[in-house]
Amino acid sequence: MKKSIVLSAAIAFVVTTNAQNKVNQDSLFKEAAKTEFWEPVPKMVTPGKTNSDAPSDAIVLYNGKDVAKWEKEKGGKVGWKIDKDGALTVVKGSGNIATKQGFGNCQLHIEWREPSVIAGASQTRGNSGIFFMGQYELQVLDSYNNPTYVNGQAGSIYKQHIPLVNASKKPGEWQSYDVIFTAPVFFSDGKVQSPARITVIHNGILVQNNVAIKGHTEWIGIPKYAAHSDREPLVLQDHGLDGGQPMSYRNIWVREL
Ligand code: MG
Repeated sequence: MKKSIVLSAAIAFVVTTNAQNKVNQDSLFKEAAKTEFWEPVPKMVTPGKTNSDAPSDAIVLYNGKDVAKWEKEKGGKVGWKIDKDGALTVVKGSGNIATKQGFGNCQLHIEWREPSVIAGASQTRGNSGIFFMGQYELQVLDSYNNPTYVNGQAGSIYKQHIPLVNASKKPGEWQSYDVIFTAPVFFSDGKVQSPARITVIHNGILVQNNVAIKGHTEWIGIPKYAAHSDREPLVLQDHGLDGGQPMSYRNIWVREL
């Protein structure tokens, strides 16, 4: 008799404990659910096979075949040439090229190659540049064993921000920039509400970490802002004073953010 009382008590205890645990667990899940969001559901984007390939929602600006998305910055046909290997190569003196479409906040992937034969030095060695909104320059330069002012080397925001490190590859090797660009915002009176910002990854290495751009890129003098629209063309530079063989671009794609 005694034995069965003890057994009943033990069973009752286990049942009670299990029920209590269930209640505790349910209330924990209820608490956790208060900080779970189920929408908005991020849309599916299919990544490229490699980082060079455009993801499914990107606008392909250049894929080695044609320059249909580009024009001469000052109007007219692109004067640069497409090589046999699909590289888009600067033709010196033909002028900068610009996208026909304007872009504001964006993610850009672009690959570039400096000539394998070294000619020129400092700023005249493979100089080009990527101008966001046609005016904020991310410098392109052969900075492999090529001393120059450091706020003008590859990976710099020209005359504004020195890159965190020099991630340059040797001349003749393809290099990449992956960039997150945030457009500046202006008040209706033209004053800056928020400056442009840029993050740059050069050959997989962070070189600019969300730095604030100080204004229109200047060779001489202090940069300042002039209000402009929220979408402007992306421009690639034909640096007329460059010393050697021209440099090239390939695999250019952009995602609007
Ligand atoms: Mg330049």
